[in-house]
Amino acid sequence: MLYEDIEKVLISEDEIGQKVRELGRAISEDYAGENLVLVSVLRGAVLFIADLIRVISIPLTIDFMAISSYGPSTETSGVVKVIKDLEENIVGKHVLIVEDIIDTGLTLNYLIKNLKSREPASLDVCVLLDKSARRIVYNLPIKYKGFDIPDVFVVGYGLDYQQKYRNLPFVGILKRFVYEMG
Ligand code: 5GP
Repeated sequence: MLYEDIEKVLISEDEIGQKVRELGRAISEDYAGENLVLVSVLRGAVLFIADLIRVISIPLTIDFMAISSYGPSTETSGVVKVIKDLEENIVGKHVLIVEDIIDTGLTLNYLIKNLKSREPASLDVCVLLDKSARRIVYNLPIKYKGFDIPDVFVVGYGLDYQQKYRNLPFVGILKRFVYEMG
C-alpha cells in the first residue's frame, strides 16, 4: 500500500479542500468580468487545478504546458525546455499560473519570462505549496498561496517521487527507506 511509505501527513485532505475553496472564492472575486486563463504545468499541478476550477464561479479557460529541466533530476537547474506549449493565444488575457510547489523558484521564473513575452493583460501565480527556505529567485508574482511548508521533500496530491505517490489525497513526507532503496 502507498500509505505505508508515508512517515507523516503534512497537510490533510480536509485542509487542502478548505484552502482550495478559499483560493477559489478569492480568484472568483478578483477576476470577475475579466478574461481569465489558468495555465498549469504538467504533471504535478493537475490535481490542484482540477479541484480549483470547480470552486471558481466565474467563466475561465484552462491550458497546459509541459517542461523538462536539464541537469540532475533531484535539483532544478532553471534551464528548462518546453516540451508541450499552450494551445491558446494569451495576448490581452489575464493569465494565472497554477503551480503545485515553488522550491528554488527557478522553474517558475523561466515560465514567467516565457509567458510575459506573449503580452498577456496580467500574469500572476497561484501556488499550493511554498517552500520558501530554498528560494533563489525572489520577486515572483505570487498572488495566491495555499500553504508555507518547511524544507522537506513532499509527495501526494499530484506531487511524485519517481512518478509514484501522485494519487495520495494528502501531502505527506516519505519514509527514509523509500529514498534509500532509490
Ligand atoms: P523549483 O524550480 O522551484 O526549484 O522547483 C519546482 C519543481 O521542483 C516543482 O514543480 C516540483 O516538480 C519539484 N519539487 C520541488 N520540491 C518538491 C517536493 O518537495 N516534492 C516533489 N514531489 N517535487 C518537488
